[in-house]
Amino acid sequence: MPAPTALPIWKIHADILRTLQGGNRLVLVAPTGSGKTTQVPQMLLDAGVAGDKMIVVLQPRRVAARTVAARVASERGGKLGAEVGYQIRFDDHTSVGTRICFVTEGILLRWLQDDRALSNIGAVVFDEFHERNLLSDVALALVKDLQQSLRPDLVMLVMSATLDAEPVAAYLNQCPILVSEGQSFPVEVGYLPVPDQRPFTVQAAEAVERILYEGEPGDILVFMPGRGEINGTLDALRGLRTQERVACIPLHGELEPQEQDRAFAPNSLRKVIVATNVAETSITIDGIRHVVDSGVARVARYDAERGIGTLLLEPISRASADQRKGRAGRTAPGTCHRLWTSIGHQTREERNTPEIQRSDLAEVVLLLHSLGIQEAATFDWLDKPDPQAVLRAEKLLTMLGALHEGRAELTPVGRQMLRLPMHPRYSRMLIEASQRGCVPEAALCAALVSGRDLLVRLDRDDAQMKGLREMFEDSGDSDFITLMRAYEFAKDNGFSFERCRSHGINAQVARQVEQTCQQILHAAQQQRLYERDSGTTAKGDEALLRCLMAGFVDQLAKRRVPGKPECDLTEQRQGQLVRESVVQEAAFFVAANLREAPSRGPNPLTLLSLATAVQPSWIAEMFPQHLSTTVEHLFDAQNKRVAAMKVVRYRDLVIEQKAQQRDLDPIASGRCLAEAQRAGAFDLPLMDHRLKQFIARVDLVHATLPELEFPRFDAEAVTACLARAFKGLSLVKEAQAAPLMAAFHQHLAQGQVSWLDELVPLSISWPAGGSLKVSYANESPEVQVKLHECFALTEHPTLCEGRLPVTLILCTPDGKKLATTKDWPAFVTREWPKHRQAVAKKFSGLLWR
Ligand code: ADP
Ligand code: MG
Repeated sequence: MPAPTALPIWKIHADILRTLQGGNRLVLVAPTGSGKTTQVPQMLLDAGVAGDKMIVVLQPRRVAARTVAARVASERGGKLGAEVGYQIRFDDHTSVGTRICFVTEGILLRWLQDDRALSNIGAVVFDEFHERNLLSDVALALVKDLQQSLRPDLVMLVMSATLDAEPVAAYLNQCPILVSEGQSFPVEVGYLPVPDQRPFTVQAAEAVERILYEGEPGDILVFMPGRGEINGTLDALRGLRTQERVACIPLHGELEPQEQDRAFAPNSLRKVIVATNVAETSITIDGIRHVVDSGVARVARYDAERGIGTLLLEPISRASADQRKGRAGRTAPGTCHRLWTSIGHQTREERNTPEIQRSDLAEVVLLLHSLGIQEAATFDWLDKPDPQAVLRAEKLLTMLGALHEGRAELTPVGRQMLRLPMHPRYSRMLIEASQRGCVPEAALCAALVSGRDLLVRLDRDDAQMKGLREMFEDSGDSDFITLMRAYEFAKDNGFSFERCRSHGINAQVARQVEQTCQQILHAAQQQRLYERDSGTTAKGDEALLRCLMAGFVDQLAKRRVPGKPECDLTEQRQGQLVRESVVQEAAFFVAANLREAPSRGPNPLTLLSLATAVQPSWIAEMFPQHLSTTVEHLFDAQNKRVAAMKVVRYRDLVIEQKAQQRDLDPIASGRCLAEAQRAGAFDLPLMDHRLKQFIARVDLVHATLPELEFPRFDAEAVTACLARAFKGLSLVKEAQAAPLMAAFHQHLAQGQVSWLDELVPLSISWPAGGSLKVSYANESPEVQVKLHECFALTEHPTLCEGRLPVTLILCTPDGKKLATTKDWPAFVTREWPKHRQAVAKKFSGLLWR
């Protein structure tokens, strides 16, 4: 093996040190395998860049943190955990003397909580930054902030395998960028000629077979999304028909350390390493000449249905595929076999979206609050998260009781939750469980919903399977209990594939649940929420149901009619519980799963599933901050009266309504009647022509003479007048008999009523003698008049101090409507001559002008 100093990164050794001795920031770009991860931390240490403090190297992956730490320790001839160490969740290999420490981002964030100034750290190296993990973005923002406040001496170094360094350097106030070219050999890329529907584990094994058959030397690296697929590929590789014997080696984060080391150790046989994307850029295995790429990876996404982050299988971007390809050309020309078509390649995304823009932010927002950063949306990010996602996260945290309402401060429960490295829904469940003695059960429930579905979806008419399933449905309290029973069945049967399949259980998922559950329990134990051997007694189902409520309390649903699936949720949402749920009776339940489904009506239908029955009294005990009780006057349509009701709401969802034996408040009661009347609950005979005329006249003055400040009768004003008229009344029949006019007069200021007769009179006097009624029923006031009686007019009659011409409806002497005008003199000169002859002939007894 050549000396590490022969690695390409050493060519810019002097530049790196010069930059960091002159300034405190640097972005370093060099291809994978150049020596960034293993060499740069050593350069910093040997040059004393961090003084006597520690150099921390952030790694997105646990396997990488551990293996590179081991590599660097051995290069320096020391023991792992002495001068060079690592720390990842559940595994700490550091000591007082540790100077270079490889950690996952979560660990650094935890340290920040314990010591805002990171006093014993001299340099933070962000490795693999091109991956753009949520937590590495958070860490970058926080360290930048720290450097600009308490720790200008702290050194920041961002390392990336791709050339997208400009935005990061700009974000770090235009800090210097160093690029190392590295060396690589051509790699021949092959695609599938047509899409292949078979499992890619099988396809990958075939590709390996072809490589072996062609006889080109060199080790083979196969990329698979996760442990399950890696094991599947290894199974398929056992059936290989080749002459050559090979060493098939898995590589992923869940292996024991010794097993992980097999991938790196020299082997007398040709190696076929089947790895997750940890081998994409994080770690380098020498001797690879061939890459087989499944083209998929598990990607963290926000799952709106479950309101939590999930890992979904997705196609990798073209940038990722190129990194994977590059692994074959490090030491000599190589080949890369892509298990997709060249057309399919063009439709892939060009590069990965930063996780911060596609992820559930609840856990991060909680963390930021704990560090005193309350404005997550406007914080100085490299790429800002979606403000809606931040709001959603804050709302969830408030609902779970981790943040104080409105004050955006952590509650004591929130502080406890912070100590648990998991989604806030689950940490909330565990904290509840620790008080109720059911941590193992709650951990199991959390594990049951954190991965893929345990139970296979049944066909509508799969009666046999339905029958077998029923043995798990022994409780009508929660669909989680059904899942727990199914899981226990799988476990009791040693996760047997056959036994599980016959009962519609996914054995692989069940096995994963077991592991996740153990990890959660381990975390709970570390935070002293639970002692493994304390012999906890079963607390019955209620304790567990309460924990489930705590985790999903924001998705509380209330049945509209007993036994029916329709429900109301908060924020005026409406939903329907799925048929398969065991919770068919309870009036209240929380749903762990919300899914929008197309509906026939105008609003989308929300389908609720994974339900757990709850009692309103539990909410009152556990989440009193979300309950409000008011006494309200409500209209009782059946008895045609107002009644006082005690109304209890969970946020805006009414969860209890009870008639009160008490005197009604006269004002509230009147108001309630008025609102019911306006909403059409009953007729009001006294809302007559005269009153309507009054309202129209006031509105006319308001519009024509705004300077007089007549208040308009809008809908609210009318309701207010009715409320005044109904003050002290509670029965519909009392309201119908109540005089109204005085209450409407009171809408006007003193004296305004008396002006009305002058501004908008009910009748106007006529030069031909007598007076004529003015109608205010239409938009403009109207007077109906016989045409021949108008010839005495010298000017057009007006209202509102001359500003509003009356519409004259001109009729013939026998009362037939002839024409309308708002300008009599103009009518006489222009329009009248057209009618004159016909009218004068018909009514020749009169004198026509
Ligand atoms: P980079 O971070 O730039 O991708 P690394 O520092 O991880 O590069 O690796 C540089 C070189 O060190 C690799 O090309 C490989 O030769 C060697 N190396 C790294 N890790 C190991 C290991 N665990 N075992 C053997 N060699 C290793
Ligand atoms: Mg590296």
